[in-house]
Amino acid sequence: MSDCLFCRIAAGSVPSAKVYEDDMVYAFKDIDPQAPLHVLIIPKKHIQSVLQAGGENAPYVAAMMDAARKIAKDAGVDESGFRLVMNTGADGGQTVDHLHAHLLGGRSLGWPPG
Ligand code: AMP
Ligand code: ZN
Repeated sequence: MSDCLFCRIAAGSVPSAKVYEDDMVYAFKDIDPQAPLHVLIIPKKHIQSVLQAGGENAPYVAAMMDAARKIAKDAGVDESGFRLVMNTGADGGQTVDHLHAHLLGGRSLGWPPG
């Protein structure tokens, strides 16, 4: 989708700080980091949210999880721990309508979230 910010980031037409890429996913640093490590992992296909992430799109979710494990290990937070978050819809705080997982780590994270 040419009017989708994260589609444009995945395509390289909007600049981003790349952390990881493979055939199915792209990952980059969040522009407003909430932790020392704050990476966004997105599918290269436009999928709006978790609500559209099943069926034929499920392999993209699996690829996002594979990427999360690699990124966490490369960043050295696999043993200290980290959090994966997929905000969904208005109450979930989703502001970009392209499926994304926040990978947060590098500090002790509070619970429950706000
Ligand atoms: P959410 O609120 O869950 O939809 O997450 C959207 C995230 O995208 C927020 O954490 C923003 O800081 C981040 N964001 C928005 N624009 C950019 C951008 N151009 N580059 C990197 N991260 C961005
Ligand atoms: Zn998109």
